[in-house]
Amino acid sequence: MAILAYYIVCTIVSCILLYVMLSVIKQKNALHIMFFMFICIANFGYTALAASRSLEEALLANKISYVGAFLPMLIILTNAQFCKIKLPTAFKALLLVLNLILLYLINTIGFSPLYYKTAAIDDYMGITYLTKEYGPGHNFYLGLIIFETLASAVIVVYALLKKKYTAYKTMIYLTIGVVATLVVFFIERLTKMEVELIPFSYIVTALIYFIISYNTQVFDVSTGIISIYEKKKNYVCISLNRSLHLMDYNEHSVEVFPELATVRIDTDQYPKDGTFYNLIIEWIRELEREDVNAQERIIPYGENIYRASVRRRFGGRGRLIGYVIEMIDDTELQNNLQIMVKTNEDLKMAESAAVQANQAKSEFLANMSHEIRTPINAIVGMNEMILRESADANITEYAGYISEASSSLLTLINDILDFSKIEAGKLEIVDGDYSLSRMLQSAYQMINSRAMDKDLGFIVNVDSDLPDSLYGDENRVKQILVNLLSNAVKYTREGSVFFGVTGRMINRETVELVFEVKDTGIGIKEDDIERLFDSFERVDSKKNRDVEGTGLGLAITKSLTDKMHGRLEVRSVYGRGSTFTVTLPQKVTDDHKVGEWKKTISPETDYKDVRVIHAPSMRILVVDDNPLNLMVVKKLLSNSVIKVDVTKSGKEALKFIDKKKYDVVLMDHFMPEMDGIETLDKIRETTGENKDVPVIALTANAISGSREFYLDNGFQGYLSKPISYDELMDILYKYQPDEERGVE
Ligand code: ADP
Repeated sequence: MAILAYYIVCTIVSCILLYVMLSVIKQKNALHIMFFMFICIANFGYTALAASRSLEEALLANKISYVGAFLPMLIILTNAQFCKIKLPTAFKALLLVLNLILLYLINTIGFSPLYYKTAAIDDYMGITYLTKEYGPGHNFYLGLIIFETLASAVIVVYALLKKKYTAYKTMIYLTIGVVATLVVFFIERLTKMEVELIPFSYIVTALIYFIISYNTQVFDVSTGIISIYEKKKNYVCISLNRSLHLMDYNEHSVEVFPELATVRIDTDQYPKDGTFYNLIIEWIRELEREDVNAQERIIPYGENIYRASVRRRFGGRGRLIGYVIEMIDDTELQNNLQIMVKTNEDLKMAESAAVQANQAKSEFLANMSHEIRTPINAIVGMNEMILRESADANITEYAGYISEASSSLLTLINDILDFSKIEAGKLEIVDGDYSLSRMLQSAYQMINSRAMDKDLGFIVNVDSDLPDSLYGDENRVKQILVNLLSNAVKYTREGSVFFGVTGRMINRETVELVFEVKDTGIGIKEDDIERLFDSFERVDSKKNRDVEGTGLGLAITKSLTDKMHGRLEVRSVYGRGSTFTVTLPQKVTDDHKVGEWKKTISPETDYKDVRVIHAPSMRILVVDDNPLNLMVVKKLLSNSVIKVDVTKSGKEALKFIDKKKYDVVLMDHFMPEMDGIETLDKIRETTGENKDVPVIALTANAISGSREFYLDNGFQGYLSKPISYDELMDILYKYQPDEERGVE
């Protein structure tokens, strides 16, 4: 008896373990799996019974087949679970006790007449079956299964009446399955057939069960997942089947979507005005329209912010079985993120404000330099008149100083203008054809007089084999050289400045020019070399105090070299001298060579002996809003014989144009009301004799690229302010009427 108790305990414990283990793995599926297992075991029992050769064997097999007697209990538990009905513990305990009694009764088979009064085996077509006479224990069994089946039905009806969210269709099917088994069972008992019908009825029940489970994804892992997160706070997990029917959800879901409590499981009766319908169901429909497997969204909802995802779920062979909705309360993280985004935006705004401020500064500098150039134009022009007209030696000397001062002021203004362009990233390289030798001559002439003034030697060595016809930005290359050469002269007290030009062909079209500017000057300390190319940086300021400068020259030179894909290098021995080397690629347009370097000494400008133009019939119109500028042009032309009309606005200019025929018009660009470009357009629109008159731009906008700008805008030429007398004469000679040519 004790041993029997031991076996019974082992059986019960292993069943409990099986349940617990399955629960851990798949929570709600545990009961379902046990259900199938019990059916298998029971049917195995029936097979063993049929194959048994002795009464003992047959009784043992019969006991095994009695595993099926516990199925009604499993169905009760499953139904309750489906209906989300919490069964009273006392009821569950009662079920357990009753089933244990049944287990005991079944085990008395073969020992006592309690369950079977008598039992014998018989043969039917070679198959063994039991003929038995039931004892009182069997009535207990009958009573129990009737009770359990009724309890299952009560649970389903209760759930349906209470409108508990329930997979009621499933429930009904299941109950039908159980009742069918029961009916088969009683038919069999009453007819006393030789062949047991129960194994078949089990299969029918199992099949019903299987179809329902498969359709409702009872075995869907997500269901298990939901159970794991059942009580997890701030986490929403909802499972829908492929028809968007609600299948399962965890506790927190109802807090977020209270309407879910009113929706039955395996239905889609979501209130149409509810958030769940509008937020989630609509989202899934969108997901389907876009045909994507998953999507994430940040959903602000109430006071919280959720990170939500909707995912399609697939079963075997890629079949869509439903959807899982997950929402994680991410309020804190999202708030932090928002703070970060805001901080980032603030930073960006601060940055753009800084960039704007910098731009404003560059624009201010550009405007200022433009504004300053205009009065300098007047100073230079007027000063030139003094130099030309004054007979007093003292006054001429003073005017000479003014001329020097204004030219360094002009360099300074040009540097600031360039610097502001570099800062604003607007410095452009404007390429064109030029002659290397002529450019070098021009640079040489600008420096030579300064070197002579300081009694410095100025040695030039140009490789005669270098190509002469180049394509590049002549003005900018010259600017680089003039900067380096004037520094060499500025920072050398005695000795000489050497200017070497060599180069090598990189390919047939490109020459790499190497300009070397070497001086015997004060030199630069090793530590200072790095700072040399920074804007407004002047090094060794104690020693250089008496040397004029802004510290912009080298910064501009470096930027220009970089822009032209060149290199600028410096070597220096403090106290002994410096060497600046610029390597610059330039395009070669034909194979003319530079040839022998000829030093053309520029004659000192003789203001008293300048060329004039004698063209009595020539008439020019000068348009400028600044009366001083108009006067300068008039004065510059006072020794020439030529008719000059001046006017201070575009509008008035058009009246002049209407009345008289002009040989050339000099037109300022920036004028109030109607600027130079507009006035030019209006002139071109006229039908009179001045329709095609050559118009020369007159402007303080003296940066590289200006010429192209004005030519593109329909001007025939360009004169930068302060007006160079020579350039003015060149223009006038060019447009002088043919019949007066040669008369000077
Ligand atoms: P600036 O000459 O207007 O001061 P630069 O940018 O042309 O400005 O030069 C920056 C500094 O580099 C100068 O102030 C000077 O101290 C140093 N420097 C430039 N060229 C030479 C040179 N050839 N010899 C010695 N020092 C030089």
